[in-house]
Amino acid sequence: MELLYTSTRGDGKTVSASEAILRGISPDGGLFVPVSVPTPALSLSQMLGLSYQALAFEIMKGYLPDFSDAELKDCIDKAYDDKFSTQAIAPLIKKADALFLELFHGPTLAFKDMALTILPHLMKTAAKKQNIDKEIVILTATSGDTGKAALEGFADVEGTRIVVFFPEDGVSDVQKRQMVTQTGSNTLVVGIQGNFDDAQSGVKQIFTDARLLSRMEEAGFLFSSANSINIGRLVPQIVYYYHAYLQACRMGEIQPGEVLNVVVPTGNFGNILAGCYAKMMGLPLGTLVCASNENKVLYDFFMSGVYDRRREFVTTMSPSMDILISSNLERLLYWAAGEDSLKVRELMHQLAETGCYEITDEMKARLSGFSGGYTSEADTTEAIKRIYLASGYVMDTHTAVAYSVYSRYQRQNPGDDRKAVIVSTASPYKFPADVLKAIDPKYGSIADFQLIQALSSLTATEIPQGIQGLEQRPILHKTVCEKHEMQQVVERFLNLK
Ligand SMILES: *Cc1c(COP(=O)(O)O)cnc(C)c1O
Repeated sequence: MELLYTSTRGDGKTVSASEAILRGISPDGGLFVPVSVPTPALSLSQMLGLSYQALAFEIMKGYLPDFSDAELKDCIDKAYDDKFSTQAIAPLIKKADALFLELFHGPTLAFKDMALTILPHLMKTAAKKQNIDKEIVILTATSGDTGKAALEGFADVEGTRIVVFFPEDGVSDVQKRQMVTQTGSNTLVVGIQGNFDDAQSGVKQIFTDARLLSRMEEAGFLFSSANSINIGRLVPQIVYYYHAYLQACRMGEIQPGEVLNVVVPTGNFGNILAGCYAKMMGLPLGTLVCASNENKVLYDFFMSGVYDRRREFVTTMSPSMDILISSNLERLLYWAAGEDSLKVRELMHQLAETGCYEITDEMKARLSGFSGGYTSEADTTEAIKRIYLASGYVMDTHTAVAYSVYSRYQRQNPGDDRKAVIVSTASPYKFPADVLKAIDPKYGSIADFQLIQALSSLTATEIPQGIQGLEQRPILHKTVCEKHEMQQVVERFLNLK
């Protein structure tokens, strides 16, 4: 039977995988989830010898049954090629007694590339299947990394346009420069006077504005999303949890079947949710440690069962995790509520109205496989320095949040002797100022761009291609708007009357 998708806020109606990918978000405001979780056809030991690409095919095909084998293979081959600077695509590295899953060897140096290099191909294939003759307009809100990765993926892809909104004052110098220098005649990059949550709410609002949607339809456009609300992002992310596990087996760190913990630096809950899906598919994962920075709304949620966004938004040096509304948590709630979309609708309504909701004890009990942790800026800094001194390995600020949370987890759970993988989400080259300052205060107030060379010398690594010469590239996008002007900006870009 073919796997279908349904909305977390829906009435049980289902859509095909390609329709879910094209739409991005359900018209009722909910997120698409698979009606059941597929199990891989191969056993772990049969998967041990697979390349990343072959593994991606095995894992993804269960989720995309309306793609032919040839179509899916074609998407995978176009995504995971020499755009990545290592053949392993996502290598598992052992340093200072920890295992790091490096997800930052793609073109934009952050883990978003793992899914956004393939999403445009999935989307084009889906459009062909659905006989869509409209131009697909990708609308994306970014906390820094998604934007650039989506722009790289969709730039000059025929039949698509892409609009990216980022918090004008909420991203690193390197992140911002990566975006505003983007080429491609179908791209638009806009800074907003607000934070990521504002950008994300604005985009969601545009997506569900019925009047706008009908005008779009008339003009021959169709909106879709490159944010992690799109299942076309979630599904490719499941692959690297298998890849990590299999590498740990090959390295002799674990035996096939042994349980492995994972620690994930979390913002919108997309990455860790993919880990949760891998576990539901039967991958022997133990505790999923959800690591937050000082925006610790998820930590509080896992501790108390209360999600409360009514708090001050903190700007940290791990900006891609500066989020108070974690969109993908809705998918976890749906599962924890026993797939009760009425319950999810009620909770999401409360969140919109009051900024807060509380889950039932039953739901809480179903979340026992997660452990929430958070860390301060000072502890993040300390972790970067400690690992560097111990092993010469330099973590980026987001990975350092995960590492720091994991250190505390170990202290608090001395009985848990399972090995753990630290999911490493960005290259230190994306955040050179904060990383180097953590290692040595002498780098104090020097700006990002002046420190790239210093980081290269210190780590004896080559400057990644994605940022070589970045500072000299011409700035092509200068639009800045207020939160309430986002829709107008989109209408102007599309020449809507
Ligand atoms: C996006 C991002 C995160 C957060 O991932 P989510 O899927 O939103 O939880 C963490 N670290 C980096 C570097 C990121 O770009």
